[in-house]
Amino acid sequence: MTRLSSTFLADGRELMYFDDAGTAPRDPASLEDHRALPPRAEPGEVRFDALSRDWVAVAAHRQSRTHLPPADQCPICPTTPENPSEIPAPDYDVVVFENRFPSLGPATGKLPEAAGHSGWGHSAPAYGRCEVVSFTPQHTGSFAELSEQRARTVIEAWAQRTDALSALPGIKQVFPFENRGAEIGVTLHHPHGQIYAYPYITPRAEVLASAAAAHFERSGGTETLAASILGAERNDGSRMVLEAEHFSAYVPFAARWPLEIHLVPHRHVPDLAALNGSERDELAAVYLELLKRLDRLYPTPTPYISAWYQAPLEPSLRASGQLHLQLTSPRRAADKLKFLAGSEAAMGAFINDTTPEAVAERLRTVASPALKDTLPEGARA
Ligand SMILES: [Zn+2]
Repeated sequence: MTRLSSTFLADGRELMYFDDAGTAPRDPASLEDHRALPPRAEPGEVRFDALSRDWVAVAAHRQSRTHLPPADQCPICPTTPENPSEIPAPDYDVVVFENRFPSLGPATGKLPEAAGHSGWGHSAPAYGRCEVVSFTPQHTGSFAELSEQRARTVIEAWAQRTDALSALPGIKQVFPFENRGAEIGVTLHHPHGQIYAYPYITPRAEVLASAAAAHFERSGGTETLAASILGAERNDGSRMVLEAEHFSAYVPFAARWPLEIHLVPHRHVPDLAALNGSERDELAAVYLELLKRLDRLYPTPTPYISAWYQAPLEPSLRASGQLHLQLTSPRRAADKLKFLAGSEAAMGAFINDTTPEAVAERLRTVASPALKDTLPEGARA
């Protein structure tokens, strides 16, 4: 079992060490933050956009956040005498802590119902929580280079945080994600991800959740939309990337991005916390494999956004919701990125210059040879 030890940083932020299964108990000294930190800022605000009926977080204090610091000042490397970092311990496996420059929180609470807003000028405190997940004490490298055991520990951390954040007052959606690559705005090189706990359902999650709820209702509560789509993709086969015992991955029929992979569990589960032990074990292997394949497509690492869609916490959307991963990259050639311009950025209307079938074919070609021995028959490319 992964070992969890919780503590609080000097300014009151929560920090949790998730140590790999089988490691020795943590020295209590590694739980103490000896820095003098200024008090935490009050939450920013969320403003209601009456045109689109979306909430927008306004967080001006984030302008002063750390931006690509040199390695010897990295805030998520383990603490040394020269660099008293955010992580008090001299070593760790995986660590999760509250972001010092959050766009949401630290206060939590219930937002006024958006449905009640008809006009201009509504705002509320930016309730919620933003956490940082450091995947490794090593400053360089990437998630794809983690051992399977370490990836499993990260999954344990995601699941535990999903469970804990879902229980906070007013939280409507928990979103674990990773931005990888300076090309897409990463502000720290150290391999890490984030978890946002929103006090509202995000616009994209709302669209997906209502499509999922409509399908579930039409089927009389017998089939999720995700299961229906996965079944169709498996029958067709031309866009399948990987099929394992508990998870399958494919390039979606109507992919928006030059590189886009959806990874779906075969069992109907709302979130990462609902995955059982064997599903989590397999996820570690399968997720690492997908990330490695992305990096084998070109001579240099591929920037990506890894986004976990979990069922929103609204009771009416819970039964129809299905956990899945959307792994996307704007990379369309070795030296070209797709920019979101007029049609995409203004209208949300995507134009994809690659065909999903050709992308899937390329992603099958770069499968790990070793996979053939470690994953079930179906996963072999
Ligand atoms: Zn670092």
